[in-house]
Amino acid sequence: MIPLVLPAMSDAEAPFVTRLRSGEGPVDGVWDSLMVDEDDGGVTYAGAGGILAIDGATAEALDGDVVLVQPRTGRVERILRAGSPHNTLLVTERCDQLCVMCSQPPKKTHVDRFAYLEDACLLAEPGLHIGISGGEPTLYKDQLLSMVERVLRQRPDLSFHILSNGQHFTEDDVPRLRDPLYRKVSWGVPLYAASAPLHDEIVGKEGAFDALQDGLATLLMAGARVELRTVLVSSNLAALPELSRFVASRLRFVEVWSIMQLEHIGFAKGRWRTLFVDHRDQFQMVAGAIDWATMHGVRAQLFNFPRCTVPPAYRGVAIASISDWKRKYPTACTGCAEQANCSGFFEWHPDEEAGAMVEPL
Ligand code: SF4
Repeated sequence: MIPLVLPAMSDAEAPFVTRLRSGEGPVDGVWDSLMVDEDDGGVTYAGAGGILAIDGATAEALDGDVVLVQPRTGRVERILRAGSPHNTLLVTERCDQLCVMCSQPPKKTHVDRFAYLEDACLLAEPGLHIGISGGEPTLYKDQLLSMVERVLRQRPDLSFHILSNGQHFTEDDVPRLRDPLYRKVSWGVPLYAASAPLHDEIVGKEGAFDALQDGLATLLMAGARVELRTVLVSSNLAALPELSRFVASRLRFVEVWSIMQLEHIGFAKGRWRTLFVDHRDQFQMVAGAIDWATMHGVRAQLFNFPRCTVPPAYRGVAIASISDWKRKYPTACTGCAEQANCSGFFEWHPDEEAGAMVEPL
């Protein structure tokens, strides 16, 4: 696994954002920290923020990374990794849902990092596509939208994908979201069932389904770009046909519908036996949902489905969805011709189970 947080020492008193430079390339005197030393333990940099010593990584691995230095806790957070297409900003750990399979169970406290994240975005590599997640980012909707707008005005080459439960948009947001800036923003919105009781049960929040329908209507009115997301769990497997009909008839404006396999972490880890659907045995439900959506003009794709576990006709929509820093391929994958296109497994998926599932293609 690629570490996103590293131990570090800095003589600064307050947190600051900086870009690490050790090689060639344009240098910004205010924002860049330049390498002054490297040894077996790590790398030392100097910049406007002072001296910064990072342990456990090489200058080559860190070159160009945009980091948040936290002097008091003695660590740096690699907010944007140079050369990686998988960079996600965590804007809050608060959430107003409690999904049965949540991979990152929410916290009650919120640490406001918007100013740092904005600084980081302005230092991003050209053309970077940046993810934003939580918690529920739109609990801080105005700060979130203001940050995105300021960044995109200064860096129109960037784009964002924001995960949101979609329940905090109101009609008042429509004019704002219609701004052409938002063509560079897509929203990843989860919908787990076509019926309120089942969706609300899965997300642990009464009224969530109805609020989401209002939110989706607002996004539709705003001409927003939406990726619909459905995590597969035992309770919604049989409801997939109904959901595919709902998506095809009511939500055809979405850019894509992503059906996602479960992540072995957070709440799902402790509930694995009751939640996990082995799609190898029950793929007909998934296939039917994909077929129905596709026939009605809605593009469907599979996230976190290793290609060899999917029937050949559906491998083309089983995309390499897992971010590079948390993706692994078990030893049994060695020699597979499809690895470059395959999601593989989350780093935290049990090795034995992953190894037993795969058959190199
Ligand atoms: S063998 Fe491994 S790399 Fe190949 S399709 Fe299966 S999981 Fe993916």
